[in-house]
Amino acid sequence: MVLFVTGHCSFHCFYCPVSDERMYRDVVYADEKRVERDEDVLEEARAIRAKGAGITGGDPLEALDRTCHYIRLLKAEFGPSFHTHLYTMTTDPVKIEALADAGLDELRLHVPPGLWARVGSSGFTAAVRLAKARGMTVGLEVPLIPEHEADLVRLLEWAEAEGLAFVNLDELEFSDANYGRMKVHGYVNKHDLSYGVRGADDVARRILGRVWKVTVHYCTSGYKDAWQLRSRIKRRAETVRRPWDLVTEDGTLLKGIIEGDGLDGVLAALRRTHKVPEDLMAYDPARGRIEIAPWILEEIAPRLGRASFVVEEYPTADPLEVERTRLP
Ligand code: SF4
Repeated sequence: MVLFVTGHCSFHCFYCPVSDERMYRDVVYADEKRVERDEDVLEEARAIRAKGAGITGGDPLEALDRTCHYIRLLKAEFGPSFHTHLYTMTTDPVKIEALADAGLDELRLHVPPGLWARVGSSGFTAAVRLAKARGMTVGLEVPLIPEHEADLVRLLEWAEAEGLAFVNLDELEFSDANYGRMKVHGYVNKHDLSYGVRGADDVARRILGRVWKVTVHYCTSGYKDAWQLRSRIKRRAETVRRPWDLVTEDGTLLKGIIEGDGLDGVLAALRRTHKVPEDLMAYDPARGRIEIAPWILEEIAPRLGRASFVVEEYPTADPLEVERTRLP
């Protein structure tokens, strides 16, 4: 589960992918679900059968008490083996101590690119040593900025010398939020179907071609989408699907729907005239529609006398509709 604990952050990275809806706003989301109370976090964790949480923002340490509260909440509910890792640029020792006291398992430090070449003389060295001494796994997670290859190599050498557990290099990528800033910096997409920037893969190949004593991962935008996001979506689909939903290979849901006025009368007709079983349809007042098994709706649509559709949507808390087919 991705737990976004606050949009507040003291930095302004040009590549920041966080949406305007969240960035610099003090809001909390568990995956796509807006969190108003603790139960929202627990519900989402159950819905995707989460085995752990990546705590992110903004900078989670801008909301330290809340972050520590969620770590304790998740461990109390799902047990000590529920894994928690957190991304931050903050090196404040008081805050790192508080994370250790709360039970954080893993710290992923995001060293700002301007510090890569001289990270050894920055506050990150003390932060790493303190977090390790307090029993946390410590690694780095930074964007792979192609034109900073030499500085990145210096950062990896430092990670090796400090005995870090891993370095995750994220392919620098375009998002809706950073598109304009990335264009101003002169980046171009590596091909039409990729959000990744041209040049990052070549640098990654050179870096991964060296032998390192620290584990180095290169995480492409394609991998994140194809594996990380899709696995989470699929698990959520299996948990939240209603009896009338079909789950696709991608983890989206197919539903038959009827919208508009007079849905009470339609519901009565579905029961009496078309003999649709009660457990294969329901009226959803929040979305103003009747949901019904798509295989049944396809059969009876020509006799219903009103517009009906099969929709494909994400099983997320904000169910994005990706396709709509009108039935004859
Ligand atoms: S530290 Fe992270 S959240 Fe803050 S601006 Fe940079 S990329 Fe965005």
